[in-house]
Amino acid sequence: MISLQDIREAEGRVAEVINRTCLDHSATFSRLSGNQVYLKPENLQKTGAFKIRGAANHVLQLDPRKARGGVITPSSGNHGQAVAYAASLAGYPAVVVVPEDASPAKVAAIKGYGAEVVFYGTTSLERIEKARELARERGMAFVHAFDDPWVMAGQGTIGLEILEDLPDVDAVLVPVGGGGLISGIATAIKESRPKVLVFGVEPAGSNSMYLSCRAGKATELKGVNTIADGLRTSRPGELTFPVVQKYVDDILLVSEEEIKTALVTLLERGKLLAEPSGAVTVAALLAGKVPLREKKVAAVISGGNVDLKLAAELIGEA
Ligand SMILES: *Cc1c(COP(=O)(O)O)cnc(C)c1O
Repeated sequence: MISLQDIREAEGRVAEVINRTCLDHSATFSRLSGNQVYLKPENLQKTGAFKIRGAANHVLQLDPRKARGGVITPSSGNHGQAVAYAASLAGYPAVVVVPEDASPAKVAAIKGYGAEVVFYGTTSLERIEKARELARERGMAFVHAFDDPWVMAGQGTIGLEILEDLPDVDAVLVPVGGGGLISGIATAIKESRPKVLVFGVEPAGSNSMYLSCRAGKATELKGVNTIADGLRTSRPGELTFPVVQKYVDDILLVSEEEIKTALVTLLERGKLLAEPSGAVTVAALLAGKVPLREKKVAAVISGGNVDLKLAAELIGEA
């Protein structure tokens, strides 16, 4: 398990690379939700999502003599972009393994950071296998999107920043995919201030962490169905799940309608463009799913890399 000390070290390591995002009180979301709401806008983070924190923490601790081959990751989304960006800053070659049907926009973004793109298979399991094989062949470091201690500790730096900006915070809301983000944040929060509540938020259509916590063991979903593409994970990580079991107070579920409403409301009222995955925490607040009243609640907006066509559709529907 990672510790508070690992997260403190990560904070020093990634300081030069990341944006130190703010924590902004929102009168509008406070009024709409009945709590004092503070937004942590990681949509304004470098590469458009928090993933740069964990990717940079992994890449910057590599021993340059051993990591000559560079880094490789099987993610086509925000993590792939973050690894490509962190590797370019550190001067390592990077390879991102993407599905054969990856969106041209994502492929262009990854190439824009100077990484090589390898197209392989269609499922995440196929990509992970391929990336591990290439890592062995080419002597590259494999960077998992969530089940990696360096990645988890890097994401945890968000927890330290929240405590620094709002020492008397009562609760923190965190989107949950594989659980890297929440395991880092929960470790930072609970090992500093055990009384602060930490809630995860998942789409009801991709609720593997919720089910796993209820069952007391990692539970795999047969399929996932959500607009929140960063949260389409079918099972929790082997490293992240025990941390969630130990430190997370509860997992809240939101519907697809609630996510869409939150995205549009964040844009209209908060002037923030979140991607669906990043809007789930505000969705939980607006839908009255957070079991608190008049408390100081920090909501992590985890990313803003939304396809503009999709954003336009959602605005049109609203
Ligand atoms: C990856 C991601 C998440 C989920 O993070 P995990 O560490 O997999 O739980 C949430 N939001 C965005 C925008 C992401 O890119």
